Amino acid sequence: MKKNIAIIGSGFSSLSAACYLAKKGFEVHVYEKNDTLGGRARQFKENGFTFDMGPSWYWMPDVFERFFNDFDKKSTDFYSLKKLNPAYHVYFGENNYVAIPDELEKICKVFEKEEKGSSVELLKFMKMAKENYRIAVTEMLYKMPGISPFELVSIDTVKRVGYFFTNIKKQVHKRFKNPKLRSILEFPVLFLGADSSNTPAFYNFMNYADFGLGTWQPNNGFYDVVKAMIKIGKSLGVHYHNNSNVTQIITKNNSATGIIVNNKIINSQYILSGADYNHAETLLPESQRQYSQKYWSSKTLAPSSLLFYLGFDKKLENLTHHNLFFDTDINLHTKEIYDDPKWPSKPLFYANFTSMTNAHTAPEGCENGFILVPIAPGLEDNEDLREKYFNIIINRIEKITKQKIKENIIYKKSFCVNDFVSEYNSYQGNAYGLANTLLQTSFLRPKLKSSKVKNLFFTGQLTVPGPGVPPSIISGKLVADLIENTNP
Ligand SMILES: Cc1cc2nc3c(=O)[nH]c(=O)nc-3n(C[C@H](O)[C@H](O)[C@H](O)COP(=O)(O)OP(=O)(O)OC[C@H]3O[C@@H](n4cnc5c(N)ncnc54)[C@H](O)[C@@H]3O)c2cc1C
Repeated sequence: MKKNIAIIGSGFSSLSAACYLAKKGFEVHVYEKNDTLGGRARQFKENGFTFDMGPSWYWMPDVFERFFNDFDKKSTDFYSLKKLNPAYHVYFGENNYVAIPDELEKICKVFEKEEKGSSVELLKFMKMAKENYRIAVTEMLYKMPGISPFELVSIDTVKRVGYFFTNIKKQVHKRFKNPKLRSILEFPVLFLGADSSNTPAFYNFMNYADFGLGTWQPNNGFYDVVKAMIKIGKSLGVHYHNNSNVTQIITKNNSATGIIVNNKIINSQYILSGADYNHAETLLPESQRQYSQKYWSSKTLAPSSLLFYLGFDKKLENLTHHNLFFDTDINLHTKEIYDDPKWPSKPLFYANFTSMTNAHTAPEGCENGFILVPIAPGLEDNEDLREKYFNIIINRIEKITKQKIKENIIYKKSFCVNDFVSEYNSYQGNAYGLANTLLQTSFLRPKLKSSKVKNLFFTGQLTVPGPGVPPSIISGKLVADLIENTNP
């Protein structure tokens, strides 16, 4: 008889684990509380506009390809991908922006214009970043279930041990003087959920992901990836259940035996939670939880976000697909996320307009927009605050890109801390899970396997390897391998 498993949540890690487990011969059921699958990467359509709700930067295409290859497929069997050029714009003020092209050679020219001699430094920096990417992403991450510190030890990492005890910020500042170039090179580690001064220099592999591998866009948006993974799962017999809220993990003699979904008992030999880790443990009696509230409150969470989904009744100018507004002090904003949590006094923000690449994601002659302001998790959230920041952001976009857009907004929806909690059971309303700082890396992160309840496992951005879509997909693979090797 097939072994069976119930998976809580349908984010990327759950979707990935479901496919791997079904391939290994398990009967797999995925239970998602919301009405659509995909977790933080859901998509919605309104008034002719299509919005990806979460991830938008398709980085590390090799990780997506490796997933598909494991099922004898490739991404292009499901969606087409376009390499963006420019990859993105970074705005530093009026008449002051840097466009990042799609190839390193061209990026060197951009750097040279900003700081003489910087292209030579950039090539050296990128050589190191590429090597770190090979070691970390291509090799280590797939072999690191976070069980033992020895997983981090290899000839390559021992040679680079110094990179773990200095940080990205120091490494960038040592090499580049120009403040614009510094911010551009410090930006990619924001994906790891931490500040560059608190992220080991080894993680500059994210700079290779950025400048070396490039920024890609699936034809119908990021949700193409979710749909592709579900298609693979269905072909392997995975059962997906939406509108299925899990309210309890049932245990007997410290072994997981099932879950309660919409007041119904579902028996299962294994339980895997891809829901936020903290929430998943609250589905157990207190004595069977591994991590206390004190533990969680001592951790560095990745930021939450204030998001706006906007529809415009015209095409916008002087913007590109991905836009970073770094026209205020990055250090102040970072401090107000991590050290002195409060609503940012002068927010940096990110805006994307996918209809500039995929015209069909907005009605003809219109544009869709997504705005993200990173904020500290757990902040007070209400309509007045959201509106205050909306006005600040729109005025800044209008001023910097020299056009009126406010009067052209025909659709608007906001999403913030309270929604992250109510929609995803997110701890403190975090958007991207648990930050990847030195002390929250690998075996120092919450574990994939419960140490208190047999047959209970966890996956996703709060466990290993960490935040982001590619790490979540890898997390699903790591936990599936661990489950395969555990007897019920
Ligand atoms: C706004 C935003 C922008 C981002 N941008 C990027 C980007 O550009 N590139 C990138 O790589 N990454 C990005 N990320 C990060 C990336 O989206 C996440 O790391 C990844 O999607 C997390 O996947 P996950 O598997 O951990 O689970 P999640 O996506 O968090 O899914 C967990 C699921 O569990 C469900 N659930 C919770 N409790 C229960 C319950 N009791 N019963 C049933 N179901 C439950 C939730 O509803 C949710 O669907 C972004 C995230 C956000 C929020």
